[in-house]
Amino acid sequence: MTNFLQHSPLSDSERYKHRLLKAILLVIFFASLVIGSINIFLFSAYTIGMLNFTSMALSALIWVYYHASKRLAIAVWLVSGAVIFNLASFIVLAKGGGYSLIWLTVLPPLVFFLLGKRAGFWVTAIFFAAVLTYFYQQLPHLPAQKLSMGAYLNIVEVMIVLLLIFRFYENSRSEAYAELQRISTIDKLTGIYNRAKLDDVLEQHIELMDRSEQPLSIMLLDLDHFKVVNDQFGHLQGDKVLQEVTKVIRGTIRKTDQFGRWGGEEFMLICPNTNAENAARLAEKLRIAVQDFDWQFAVPITISIGIAEITARQSSVEALQAADKALYLAKNNGRNRVEVVTEGAA
Ligand code: GH3
Ligand code: MG
Ligand code: MG
Repeated sequence: MTNFLQHSPLSDSERYKHRLLKAILLVIFFASLVIGSINIFLFSAYTIGMLNFTSMALSALIWVYYHASKRLAIAVWLVSGAVIFNLASFIVLAKGGGYSLIWLTVLPPLVFFLLGKRAGFWVTAIFFAAVLTYFYQQLPHLPAQKLSMGAYLNIVEVMIVLLLIFRFYENSRSEAYAELQRISTIDKLTGIYNRAKLDDVLEQHIELMDRSEQPLSIMLLDLDHFKVVNDQFGHLQGDKVLQEVTKVIRGTIRKTDQFGRWGGEEFMLICPNTNAENAARLAEKLRIAVQDFDWQFAVPITISIGIAEITARQSSVEALQAADKALYLAKNNGRNRVEVVTEGAA
């Protein structure tokens, strides 16, 4: 399963990190190439030029590593390290002149976003502290037009303010993002995935299945004669039944199975690494669990389940059609039962 998770597609927030990471590496690579060439060939400044080329090589190495390993969690640290290396070498070489310290202000937005609020805070705080200590020691040896005590104190204050503002900003950004994610992917009544999220998850698992050659099955689960429950006991009771059915199914499936509300009184279960035979066994367990639950209604509460094992080269639409066909069969064959549609019949 770890293998499966490692290769799972990027989430929305990871996609942005992935883009930022590539943009930073490209900027470092080409900026270092141009500046390094100018330093060496125009100014004969070999030490600085070599630093530029080191930085260029570093960014190329990180790019290659990230492409080969796809380990975003490690790549964000490497890229943050590369940015810090560039900032540190530039600031030290410029010795505080030409407003070079203003470049420090680019660090917080980058590392807070890439590393998150906690690591971002500490990396920024430690780097700022190191730079400030360095310049505190350098101050007596620097001409005042390069860096005066007054300018130094201004920089200290700006760094502290930046650190606090970005901490606050990243907190509110990540909370708002998490809330948005929750609202857009979770069904309000049952607290499980909604249709939009199920669509995404299904696409991702089909993509993964094509690569991993592991079986994948989907199930559509539909409450039987649910209209009767609503008509006889009211909509609120109907809602409670939907919530209870959700709990019963959640308590029976595996953690890796993806469960959501497909719409109305219909649910979907996506079962990775599961062939039709095993999916049918699980479906039978679910059917019995719902049937045997202590419902305390005058009418029985049962579900019908349609299963389709997804075959290679099958699209999500075709897979859904197959599961829908199986569900239709289950309803037609008397309800409270499980049916499987195999590839040939789909
Ligand atoms: P079948 O066995 O053929 O599936 O019969 P059924 O009555 O379950 O199917 P039908 O499609 O005729 O009716 C579905 C019912 O589900 C009608 C609708 O009011 C009810 N329903 C859909 N969404 C909700 C909901 O969120 N809450 C409640 N209480 N009822 C819902
Ligand atoms: Mg129904
Ligand atoms: Mg239905």
